[in-house]
Amino acid sequence: MSSKELKNLMQRREVLMGLAAGTIVPMVSGCADNAALGRSQLMLVSDGQLAQLSDQAWRESLQRERVLRDPSYQRRLNRVGQRVVEASGQTDKDWEFVVFDSDTINAWVLPNGKVGFYKGILDIMESDDQIATVMGHEVGHVAGRHSAERASQQVAAQVGVQLITSALGSSEQTVGYTDDIGAALGMGVTLGIILPYSRQHEYEADRLGVDYMVRGNYNPRQAIDFWQNMSELHQGGRLEFMSTHPSDDNRIAAMRAHMTARGYV
Ligand SMILES: [Zn+2]
Repeated sequence: MSSKELKNLMQRREVLMGLAAGTIVPMVSGCADNAALGRSQLMLVSDGQLAQLSDQAWRESLQRERVLRDPSYQRRLNRVGQRVVEASGQTDKDWEFVVFDSDTINAWVLPNGKVGFYKGILDIMESDDQIATVMGHEVGHVAGRHSAERASQQVAAQVGVQLITSALGSSEQTVGYTDDIGAALGMGVTLGIILPYSRQHEYEADRLGVDYMVRGNYNPRQAIDFWQNMSELHQGGRLEFMSTHPSDDNRIAAMRAHMTARGYV
């Protein structure tokens, strides 16, 4: 190993130790307790960084997608969105709810509180309670800080990989945090704002979503109806929502168990 390589390796070690000690400041808050989830999370990404990337992604989506010019859809989504956000207590964000003009059956949220629903998913919903089901789930991802956690895991993995490649003698890489975070969020990329969430994140978002429904006076039973309907549609063909929100048969059962445990049904 040359002295230059050794120096690079040392620098990366310092970065890692800085990460561990929490001394690398704007991007690092280390581990954080999340009250909504009742567990602690790896947090290497600052809220400011995430907000900046989310704002950029939101601007890109507004340019890429066509906003639906039907005020009744927008009003309906907005009404449910406000009520669910109120119920979630996540009122510190600048929430915005937009319906895009596409038959795609999908919906997503950015960590800065920007929510996109496609006309296609609203058209298969049978009630406001079902809109609240997906809205609650998406707000649950925000409350759960799932994007930040995923980005942090990605950064940690990336730094680890770079340390190893460096030790093996390849010294030309730099530790590009911003790129890593961007990649981890799937941002700056023209396609796919939202990467698939993990199963753990899906289950957490489901539970939080149902809690918000109940607090917002929506009928939680409609969540079961909706996901069953989605699962049937999924078997029939492509469903984009399912590709960004991995699901399986156990998910509905888990939701039902949560509802019973909380006395919702
Ligand atoms: Zn999800």
